[in-house]
Amino acid sequence: MSERIRIFESTLRDGEQTPGAKLNAQEKLEIARQLARLNVDVIEAGFPISSPGDLRAVQQIAREIKGPVIAALARTVKEDIACAWDAVKDAQKPRLHVFLGASDIHMEKKFRKDPQTCLNEAVQAVKYARSLTSDVEYSLEDATRAREEYIYQVVEAVIDAGATVVNIPDTVGYAVPEEFGALIRRILTNVPNAHRAVISVHCHNDLGFAVSNSLEAVKNGARQVECNINGIGERAGNAALEEIIVSMRIRPDHFPFTTGINEKEIYKTSRLVSKLTGIPIPVNKAVIGINAFAHSSGIHQDGVLKDKSTYEIINAELIGGQAAQMILTARSGRHALRNQLEALDYAMNDAEFAEFYERFIELADRKKEVYREDLEALLIDVSYTDPIYGLEYLHTVGGTRTIPAAVVVLMRGEESLEAVSSGTGPIDAAYKAIDMITDLNIELGSFNIRAVTQGMDALGEVSITIKHEDKHIIGRGMSTDIIEASVKAYLDGINKLINVKAHNNIQP
Ligand SMILES: [Zn+2]
Repeated sequence: MSERIRIFESTLRDGEQTPGAKLNAQEKLEIARQLARLNVDVIEAGFPISSPGDLRAVQQIAREIKGPVIAALARTVKEDIACAWDAVKDAQKPRLHVFLGASDIHMEKKFRKDPQTCLNEAVQAVKYARSLTSDVEYSLEDATRAREEYIYQVVEAVIDAGATVVNIPDTVGYAVPEEFGALIRRILTNVPNAHRAVISVHCHNDLGFAVSNSLEAVKNGARQVECNINGIGERAGNAALEEIIVSMRIRPDHFPFTTGINEKEIYKTSRLVSKLTGIPIPVNKAVIGINAFAHSSGIHQDGVLKDKSTYEIINAELIGGQAAQMILTARSGRHALRNQLEALDYAMNDAEFAEFYERFIELADRKKEVYREDLEALLIDVSYTDPIYGLEYLHTVGGTRTIPAAVVVLMRGEESLEAVSSGTGPIDAAYKAIDMITDLNIELGSFNIRAVTQGMDALGEVSITIKHEDKHIIGRGMSTDIIEASVKAYLDGINKLINVKAHNNIQP
């Protein structure tokens, strides 16, 4: 029988540390719900001490999500651990995850403490965490640049102190597969009590080895892998969950392991995370990129048409994805739409369906053929914030030899607010008109536009980041008209910003 590997998902903690990927509490909850459907073993929900907003978000996830273990991160400081416990204590299965640097570089330069002091701190922290819960993970930050004798010492001491999972992170993405696998093997051989805890790995992708290092570690005895959907995370990111899972599935001869992952939810989870974090999936991304199943050369196309296995080792259906296909039009009716939603595994009550049907018709009137991807985009095109300003009217002009201008009417409650502005282009003009109404000092960061499907009438998804004082916010909008989508994205960002300011939901 193949051995079971636990999947520890950290999109909501490490993934959220991706520059620009700030999520609000409702967005985090939505991702957590999907991670539960994906059936990960552990959801690392956040770093509660980092902000009151993160604490509340982790609390909400801990209270609502059943199934996976809900973990919260803490430094070896008592106050951190108490705060993390406050965040996860209501979970069905709570975990405290404590970490401290293990390399000389971290101990000398970051903490200015000697190794023995750090070791004592680690032991005290694990003991304190164990006094609160029976599931405690300890991470030796920057382990791959630490002295190996010291690693053994810490691993042994924290297991004696009660750690049930010990994580060996390649924090800076420095390790190479053979070396990393051998390190895990030596830890298991040389630390006398190592078998009493689960050995975990957490690999970053700075040299592009995150997935290879993780798999090599598993082959050498690690039984928990920390990874993120779409490989997002600090700097170059973390090991990509979908690549690890599909590698095990496609090459069981090399990776004879099982996980609890519901593979059919991979595609949907990947799209949701990309959408809510505003981080696009590269088209050539392994397993999940839209080109992963596209064949452009004539010879390849011919082969695939005769038999898929000629040039395709992964069937898109394995991860719950399918090639684009025409499914619905405005005349398809409620019944057909219901059927399609069920086929996509989206459950809705009657009231939700009635509202969704209105939105579907609005789209189908503009776009003759509605594809599966359009439906999915529509399904996740919900703003997880209170709409302070709503778009009532938009008129823009642009083109060569004209001065681009925009007329914008926004609703704020019952009040109708109008502004007119010119700009360098119609989108710029519309944004300036909105600024005149909202009177917020906003700086536009990134601006991304993506077509959901192919063709002239494709739905456009716009994702932007806006900056106001020290806050970075992601706004999203969707429409068959890219100017309207851009304006919706800007308003979505502004509405979130106002909500954040009102609730002081500041995330670092
Ligand atoms: Zn990390």
